[in-house]
Parts: sequence; C-alpha cells; structure tokens
Amino acid sequence: MMAKRVIVVGSFNVDHVWSVARLPRPGETLAGEYGSGPGGKGFNQAVAAARSGAAVRFACALGDDAGGQLARALAADDGIALHVLASDAPTGTAGIYVDRDGRNSIVIGPGANAALSADHVRELGADLADAGTGVVLAQLETPAEAIATAFALAREHGVATLLNPAPADAEVTPGLWALTDLTTPNETEFCTQLQRLGHDADPDTLAGLADDDLHALCRRLLPHGTVVITLGAAGCFVSHASGHLRGDGAACYRQPAPRVEAIDTIGAGDAFNGALAASLARAGEKPFAEHIAHAVRYAALSTERRGAALAMPRAADVAARFD
Ligand code: ADP
Repeated sequence: MMAKRVIVVGSFNVDHVWSVARLPRPGETLAGEYGSGPGGKGFNQAVAAARSGAAVRFACALGDDAGGQLARALAADDGIALHVLASDAPTGTAGIYVDRDGRNSIVIGPGANAALSADHVRELGADLADAGTGVVLAQLETPAEAIATAFALAREHGVATLLNPAPADAEVTPGLWALTDLTTPNETEFCTQLQRLGHDADPDTLAGLADDDLHALCRRLLPHGTVVITLGAAGCFVSHASGHLRGDGAACYRQPAPRVEAIDTIGAGDAFNGALAASLARAGEKPFAEHIAHAVRYAALSTERRGAALAMPRAADVAARFD
C-alpha cells in the first residue's frame, strides 16, 4: 500500500495566550499568566498529518522575523517540507485570552498569511502532477484564491480535496465549494455556511435532528461530495453524496468518539483534519468509515493533552491508548 503525500495550504501563527480569571471588559486591564507557541489551523493540521505518519508539504507565507524562524525550525522537527512565500508582512499572530471555564476571546493578526497567493500555490504543480500526492487539505485562514488554485490543480490531477471550513466567519465562494470533494465543518461552521447559501440551519437544534434530516442538509451544502460534521465529544456525522467515497458503507452514519479525559479541546478539529488527510493519503482500498474511525480516535486523544500543534499525538500513541 503506497503512502502518498499530503499537501496542506494554510496559515501559521504565533499564538500569544493569556490565562485569566475572566475575560476583560472594554477599558479594563487585567493580569494573566502568559505563554506563547506555534498555532494557525494550517500548521496545526500539517503537524497532525505528519505525526499520523504522512509525508507533508505545507504551503504557507511567513515574515522575515522570529515567528518565521520558529515555523521553519518546528516544521523541520516534524519532517514537514515547507513551501514558503517570504512576505514583507510580519508572520501571523493570534492574541488569545482564556478564562477559568475555558471560554476564550481571540484576535488574529493575519500578517503574512494574507499574502499567500495563487502564484505561489501554482508552484506546487509538479508535486500534484507526479502521482505522489493523495490529498490537498486547506482551511479558511489564508486567501480563498490561493486555496481555489490548489484545489483546481488537484482536480486536474485526480487528487482529493479536503476543505475544513474554519473559522466560521470566513466565506467559501461557490467556485471553491465546487472544487471540494470532502468538507469537515463543526456544528457552528456547518450552520453558518448553510445560512450563507440561503438555507435554514440552527446550531441549537442540529443535535436533535434525525439522521435523514441532517443528511438532507449536508446534501445542500455539498451536493456532489462528502460532508463530515464534527460533533465534539459525540464524534462526527458522515454524509456521502450518492456513491461518492462511500464504498459499501451507508449513505450516512454517526461515528461516536471514545470516552476520554478531555482537558483541552482547542485544536481538536485540527487534529481530526490532519489525521483524516493522512489516513486518506495512505489509502489503498480501505473503507471510508475506517479513515473516519481513525480521525475520531486521534482527535479524542489530542484533547487529553494541553496545547495544539506541539501536543498532537503520534500514530503509535493512538494505538497504545485505544487498542
Ligand atoms: P472543533 O475543534 O473544530 O470545534 P470538535 O469540537 O467537533 O471540532 O472536535 C473535533 C473532533 O475532536 C471530534 O470529532 C472528536 O473526535 C474529538 N473531540 C473533541 N472533543 C472531544 C471530547 N470531549 N471527547 C472526545 N473526543 C472529542
């Protein structure tokens, strides 16, 4: 069974995190415990894919600064091959306040991430043409044009495209949906994107929907592809278009998550996406449900560790914890 590479197109941020008793009000000054580390959905997912055993190429934009150096050093640690657009803008940043109940407020400084361009992504053409790439994975923290370019190249060469439509407030163009084979929103992202397409969807009532009704909503979001809604501790819901990626499995089903001692669910979605992409790239003829089962277990384990990119599990840890 040949392992193919995963190409991730996405963001790198330096996260600055303050743990505070409560979130500050306008005009207020509070003291909190400070820490910093790597983040950005693109980088988190690239690390999860690499630690799941995939060969990963990560297309990103970095500034000429300490953040850019951090990205290069950490990528090397995890054997991730970078395809860097060197930007004049500072490397992306996120300022995060987290209160005692785990609620957070986040401000993102996109910086270099906003400079990731279609031209830069087009340079991945050779990687996509050599039959060595299994999956292209992207999120919405970098310009839609760059992602659409990567997905169009992937389509041209028969490579699967996986869009994690996060964060929820970022728009997905109809053109980008049309180039997407597989999408992995959480409940909020699923409802927000459906609403943008003019459909009624309410995160508060989603959990109570029968599988058939949820399946019908998924079909509206991605009529020709596969939708996987991640449901936190409840695992995920999978909905295939007729025949798409389905193998012999059902058109829709739920995959429960194992019960874990979750202490930090930030980055759980990133863990899920990286692990799913890596599993799909290893492919062979495995049923889709087995890739989903792996991603759910991998993401569940990630919640037992504090931190995002640096706390991503390794494939062997998943087997050791659950087998
Ligand atoms: P996001 O982080 O994008 O909001 P979710 O909260 O839906 O995504 O979590 C993604 C995946 O992480 C879930 O499908 C599940 O596999 C795992 N997960 C998250 N929270 C828990 C939890 N409390 N217990 C077990 N697994 C979890």
